[in-house]
Amino acid sequence: MDYEAVIGLETHVQLKTLSKMWCGCANQYGAEPNTQVCPVCLGMPGVLPVPNEQALRLTALTGYLLHCELPRHVQFDRKNYFYPDVAKNYQLTQLAYPSTVNGHVDFEMQGESKRVRITRAHLEEDVGKSFHFDRQSGVDFNRGGVPLLEIVSEPDITSADMAHAYLNALKDILVYGKISDCDMEKGMVRCDVNVSVRPKGSQTLGAKVEIKNMNSFSGVRRALQYEIPRQLEAISRGESIVQETRRWDDVANMTESMRTKEDAHDYRYFPCPDLVPFEPSDNWFETVREGLVELPMDRKKRFMEQYQLPENDAEVFISDVPLGDYFEKVASHGGNPKALANWVINNLRAQLVEPEVSLDSLRFEPAALVELVELVDTGKISSKIAQSVFTDMFTSGKAPAAIVAEKGLVQVSDTGAIEQFCDQAIEANPGPAEDYRQGKDAALNFLKGQVMKLSRGKANPALVGKVLDQKLRP
Ligand SMILES: [Zn+2]
Repeated sequence: MDYEAVIGLETHVQLKTLSKMWCGCANQYGAEPNTQVCPVCLGMPGVLPVPNEQALRLTALTGYLLHCELPRHVQFDRKNYFYPDVAKNYQLTQLAYPSTVNGHVDFEMQGESKRVRITRAHLEEDVGKSFHFDRQSGVDFNRGGVPLLEIVSEPDITSADMAHAYLNALKDILVYGKISDCDMEKGMVRCDVNVSVRPKGSQTLGAKVEIKNMNSFSGVRRALQYEIPRQLEAISRGESIVQETRRWDDVANMTESMRTKEDAHDYRYFPCPDLVPFEPSDNWFETVREGLVELPMDRKKRFMEQYQLPENDAEVFISDVPLGDYFEKVASHGGNPKALANWVINNLRAQLVEPEVSLDSLRFEPAALVELVELVDTGKISSKIAQSVFTDMFTSGKAPAAIVAEKGLVQVSDTGAIEQFCDQAIEANPGPAEDYRQGKDAALNFLKGQVMKLSRGKANPALVGKVLDQKLRP
């Protein structure tokens, strides 16, 4: 019998707010442990939470970006459990009345369009972080109370690769909407994976295994690449799959059982008596919609159509949004978009790896790149010279034409001058010249190189080739 995997993902994303969800403590990564805490986020008795409106806005905006419905009645519930990193002994979340429901994410995978439906994206709070040392453990509550969005997908995912592609698409959307920085190294995105297998075509779901707390997308893919065959092998041996929570061990490259799964009723959810339901006005939703942005897929399509860029270039500008925005600024000054994209992707991006260089700190104007490309296109400078002009633009901030004039870099396209260089090169290299005469085409490149050297890179290379050829094979 043929089996298929059924995968659903719960993705937790830290929202990009200045302060935490219920208090004024900073929402900032990297501070000394327990320096961004107060009585509210430490769960002291007698304190009252005050909702962070920006977090509610980002949640609603996510709803729009994921094509969700946005209910007009939203409620926070207490999810009760004890764990050292939960100071209050409960987590505030949205069970029955979440901020957003019924959406979808569209993406491409191996040239095919895919859709994963979104059950809900609800707002909750992050918990503290436990650290285990040799002889004791500690908890850092800086993270406790940071607004956290839980995005729950329908079990529409059928493979490890599809899970990976979905997560990347989701991340792109969230970064686009400035919902979250989604920096996985800082734990801003974590994922719970639900996976089961069933006979192909069957409508009933098999026993569900949950793999908790994955903190990288590649980890999710590897965990599924292990877990799906594990379940299939168990079934082929006649065993049944136990509904349970498993842990992914990235070093051993396998999942292992943690505990059998608890049910929702174990948490004794109830509406938080400290918070009134959130029932925003139409006007509030309108102001949220002002933050709507073009989605990655739409942007890719537009870059390919508007600028006639190949798919690879468009994809670079989809995954690196600031670079794509910068390209658009450059292209708005006219010029050949494909050539401009090459400069931005191949030359500019290479410089941006230096820690002190960023798109905001560039010393030249976006229009300068258009000017540089024009200098090459019109034959004023060779593309090799253009590289050194570009480096100069970086350090001096001067306009390309000014650099070319100042340093006398104008390409020599004067046939008389080029003929002289060619004669010199042929005279100094009789061997290769003879080789070319005898039909060895490769010898021409060597001679061309010599001419370029003689002209200090300024000779027009196409013209040099032509002149050499005429002289040696008249
Ligand atoms: Zn606080």
